[in-house]
Amino acid sequence: MSVQTKKRQRTCIGCAATQQKGALHRIVRTGEGEVAFDPTGRISGRGAYVCSTDCLAAARKTRKLERALRCKVTDEDYERVLRELALAEAPGKNEE
Ligand SMILES: [Zn+2]
Repeated sequence: MSVQTKKRQRTCIGCAATQQKGALHRIVRTGEGEVAFDPTGRISGRGAYVCSTDCLAAARKTRKLERALRCKVTDEDYERVLRELALAEAPGKNEE
C-alpha cells in the first residue's frame, strides 16, 4: 500500500515559485478589508503568498498583490506588511 501525502502547494505572487504552504508567508485581506501579514496562516479572508520581502516588493511593483487580494493595497499597507515580514524572517526566531 502506498502512502500518498497530500501537500498543499502555494504559489508565490512575486516569483511564482511553488512551495509547501508553511514555506511561504501569507498576506491576508481580512473581513474588515484590512491587508495584514498572517504569521499563523489562520486568519480568515482572501490570502496571497510570498517567499520573502523581496518577492513582496516585486509583487508591489507589478500590482500582483492587489490582484491576488482583489482590493486596493495602499503604501501604508505595503510598508506595514513589509516590516512584519522582515521581522518574521529575522534570524534566531524559530517557527513551528
Ligand atoms: Zn517568491
